[in-house]
Amino acid sequence: MTEQFDTVVVGAGVSGLACARLLADAGQRVVVLEARERIGGRVHTERIGGRVTDMGASWIHGIDGSPVFAAASAFGMPTVEFTMGSFQAGGRPVAYYDPAGRRLSDEAAAAFVADVAAVDALLPEAIEAAARGASYADVARAAADRAAARHGWTADRAERVVEYLHHRSEEQYGADADALDAHGLDDDAIEGDEVVFPEGYDRLAEHLAEGLDVRLEHAVTRVGWSSEGVAVVTDRGAFAADRAVVTVPVGVLKSEGFAFDPPLPRPIADALAGLEMNAFEKVFLRFPERFWDEGVYAIRRQGEAGRWWHSWYDLTALHGTPTLLTFAAGDCARQTRDWSEDRVVASVMAALREIYGEAVPEPEHAHLTHWQDDPWSHGSYAYMTLGSAPEDHDVLATPIGEPGREPVLHLAGEATWQDDPATVTAALCSGHRAAERVLGRPVPIEALWAHAS
Ligand SMILES: Cc1cc2nc3c(=O)[nH]c(=O)nc-3n(C[C@H](O)[C@H](O)[C@H](O)COP(=O)(O)OP(=O)(O)OC[C@H]3O[C@@H](n4cnc5c(N)ncnc54)[C@H](O)[C@@H]3O)c2cc1C
Repeated sequence: MTEQFDTVVVGAGVSGLACARLLADAGQRVVVLEARERIGGRVHTERIGGRVTDMGASWIHGIDGSPVFAAASAFGMPTVEFTMGSFQAGGRPVAYYDPAGRRLSDEAAAAFVADVAAVDALLPEAIEAAARGASYADVARAAADRAAARHGWTADRAERVVEYLHHRSEEQYGADADALDAHGLDDDAIEGDEVVFPEGYDRLAEHLAEGLDVRLEHAVTRVGWSSEGVAVVTDRGAFAADRAVVTVPVGVLKSEGFAFDPPLPRPIADALAGLEMNAFEKVFLRFPERFWDEGVYAIRRQGEAGRWWHSWYDLTALHGTPTLLTFAAGDCARQTRDWSEDRVVASVMAALREIYGEAVPEPEHAHLTHWQDDPWSHGSYAYMTLGSAPEDHDVLATPIGEPGREPVLHLAGEATWQDDPATVTAALCSGHRAAERVLGRPVPIEALWAHAS
């Protein structure tokens, strides 16, 4: 028998849960269909042997005015300040190691941070002047060349900054600089401190989901839509509703196992074509003792030796045990995708031993993610391929239906939010926007945490 609802929400990540929460609170009959055996999607915390590890999102990238921070505070989620989640060059202490493996003096590190700032100041201009289809690598090079000419830098000095910008593109978008559109890192400013969650980010999803009708292990394969409403087919039966809000990642939207019938119309289909899932994995290493520099947020390696493993984040304050986090991103993530975990750890350890010497101990615990192989995401988040435009994100969320009638289909999720895509904020805000569109009226975003006790 087909169950009937006002709205079917596909996906129990932050976006789907936020939307369902507001619709249910407004009195709608709402069901959330989720393929996994858990909620949260790409907000996922593992707890093993007392160790809390955020396998997906970790950071709120700037707490000032952040609805995610407001929600987390209302839900009583403790946070720890860690303002190094946006690939900052400085601002907080960083131990830089030069191409030969020597630690940069404080003066040399400050000079490098100033060089990055000088190039960053010229980037908007370079992006503005770039032809459609130009890559982030193109504009990084143009801005660095201009800075070098203006300030009389040596080629090597400019090269360090270009290399840094490439690493930033890999780490922020999980995409190589020559594959990311020039506009891909347009709006990267953060407002206020960044924070992480010592007890796990997943509490956010749990609080949003309180009291909702969430059906786990219901993998949606087809969303049929017409002016009459929607028929959503899962591996456990069909669900009918007046409308659907689909929040699955871009990787699922583009996969063969998921179909819209009829297919998504233009311009939504065109916007989707310009976005791709990235290659971005986390590697957590927990050690018996710390062997790295005291009092730093991050360790960064310059030069060819840092081509893959260039940045390590000291999570000791967060975890209570000596812990480093590094990322496999872009080419590195694709190349190591089929490696055993031991091989990946050995590769990272070799890079650390180049800096700190052979006496560095083996990690007691290693934790790696495999988002590229995850059938319910196909990567970590979406990035803008060459020729796509920032507006494509919002275009994806264009309500779908017959002209003059109430829309029957809405897309939401991180990739549908232009302001700050690829984040939990984007997921939350896009879910809120979808709910407002369904209800046909504004809803204060604070309504998402009004039920917090
Ligand atoms: C490694 C990593 C690090 C990150 N770091 C940060 C960070 O530090 N800060 C930050 O703000 N963001 C970060 N992000 C991004 C952030 O996690 C996402 O932007 C956000 O969680 C996406 O939420 P969503 O609701 O849009 O999608 P999702 O969380 O993916 O939710 C979609 C849901 O749909 C389900 N689904 C998929 N296919 C189907 C189907 N066929 N049928 C039914 N259900 C289906 C999925 O299982 C999932 O639960 C990170 C992500 C990753 C992976």
